[in-house]
Amino acid sequence: MTRKMLQFTHLPQRQPDKRAAALRRGDFHEISLGFDETRAGDQSSRCEQCGIPFCSLHCPVGNNIPDWLMLVAQGRMEEAYAASSATNTFPEICGRICPQDRLCEGSCVLEQSSHDSVTIGAVEKHITEHAFTQGWVKPGLPLSELGHSVGIIGGGPAGLAAAEALRRRGYGVTVYDRHDRMGGLMIYGIPGFKLEKPVVERRIRLMEDAGVVFVTGVEIGKTQSFAELRARHDAVLIATGVYKAKPLGLPGAERPHVHAALDYLIAQNRRDLGDAVAELDAKGKDVVVIGGGDTAMDCVRTAIRQGAKSVKCLYRRDRANMPGSKREVAHAEEEGVEFVWMAAPESISAEGVRANRMHLGMPDASGRQSPVVIAGSAFTLPADMVIAALGFDAEDVPTLFAAPDLAVSRWGTVEIDPQTQMTSLDGVFAAGDIVRGASLVVWAIKDGRDCAQAIHRYVSAKTAQAAE
Ligand SMILES: Cc1cc2nc3c(=O)[nH]c(=O)nc-3n(C[C@H](O)[C@H](O)[C@H](O)COP(=O)(O)OP(=O)(O)OC[C@H]3O[C@@H](n4cnc5c(N)ncnc54)[C@H](O)[C@@H]3O)c2cc1C
Ligand code: SF4
Repeated sequence: MTRKMLQFTHLPQRQPDKRAAALRRGDFHEISLGFDETRAGDQSSRCEQCGIPFCSLHCPVGNNIPDWLMLVAQGRMEEAYAASSATNTFPEICGRICPQDRLCEGSCVLEQSSHDSVTIGAVEKHITEHAFTQGWVKPGLPLSELGHSVGIIGGGPAGLAAAEALRRRGYGVTVYDRHDRMGGLMIYGIPGFKLEKPVVERRIRLMEDAGVVFVTGVEIGKTQSFAELRARHDAVLIATGVYKAKPLGLPGAERPHVHAALDYLIAQNRRDLGDAVAELDAKGKDVVVIGGGDTAMDCVRTAIRQGAKSVKCLYRRDRANMPGSKREVAHAEEEGVEFVWMAAPESISAEGVRANRMHLGMPDASGRQSPVVIAGSAFTLPADMVIAALGFDAEDVPTLFAAPDLAVSRWGTVEIDPQTQMTSLDGVFAAGDIVRGASLVVWAIKDGRDCAQAIHRYVSAKTAQAAE
């Protein structure tokens, strides 16, 4: 079926239906039911086909959004898949977990003109899911082997996006990861109710079929040296992410019922993947999660699904000033999470979290109003499980890798030359969170793809030089 575009004047926005909150509280499956062909086509036809498409300009990978929306509206699904996959290594993953309200959909002119944006993320997911059912998604096999090899440290989205692009070009690619599974935070951080694990595993299998070699359980800097890796490969990519949890810095933070967010999420993701994990279960407990970002939202929603007695999120600013996605806060509230706004923890005891009420004072250097304690306002939230979700910093990579010449910023992130994507070490590149600090999957994909090109330029130039 073919449809005319610009239907936004009479077709209202309809995001995919969600499973009822009462149902989704009981499992870790995705909450969105996705589009069928008719809804995807209708919603795509709302697009105005802007001459300057702000949706694409605000997409980190520069997706040709108006093109694939028009193709879906016209029922030309195979071409839509070709356009969508040309700029993004994992479009069905971005369609599920990108914060579209802050990126493409937030910039869509329909959103800006109060017509409600085109449902870009849901259409993106639909295109590739349809492509998988039709058998259009194939391993990225190279036309010929180049005879060069690249070693990639870290099998998260940055490492995997680079691996896919390099293998397609004909490089021998080996990805090393300290975990027992590839995928990085897409497997062990992001919960199944946002991104079911088989969706990531399907991609990893395709890359294996293309000839990418995955080596799990290898921690570079510990079980294998960084110098050895550099000697083995023509180029090396550092894509190790950021994993040092920001400390709570409170009296009582070392108590046994206080847990780091990522330990907690990893335990549940392992259960979802079929591993037997007994610890870190919130069943029957009063849970308090400290923090207001997306990781905190993932923790509160996980605790609800584990059958916690009560789940509270303690955040020192108000709803308008929290860093987490508004959409995720709404999902958490629907599922029964209670938000305690404008309250900051003071200490943790066996009984729970003692906190103070706050008010918002003068804006700080970032422009956000600073929270200030209201004297005499202390109260205690009962808790037998406390989860600290204050974000992540970079580990000390130069020390871990015994590479003191690897330049890092004052935050510990690895510095790269923006033109060449190369670090201060010859032939060593870096991508993803370890360069940007904690960020998004889509930025990691962009960095990985950019690095693949940069590595190809570097190896080609070296090879040409050697031949002279
Ligand atoms: C709980 C949580 C929820 C999130 N939700 C979202 C979301 O909904 N949407 C979104 O866009 N982003 C989300 N993010 C952010 C997103 O997951 C990251 O920005 C992204 O995964 C970064 O990709 P990366 O490849 O740089 O690093 P990672 O995904 O962290 O992968 C790095 C890999 O390197 C490996 N590694 C590290 N050191 C070594 C070493 N020395 N040797 C071998 N291997 C090593 C690690 O085991 C890991 O597998 C979330 C993050 C968290 C923590
Ligand atoms: S900004 Fe919105 S209306 Fe314009 S091209 Fe992009 S999706 Fe279509």
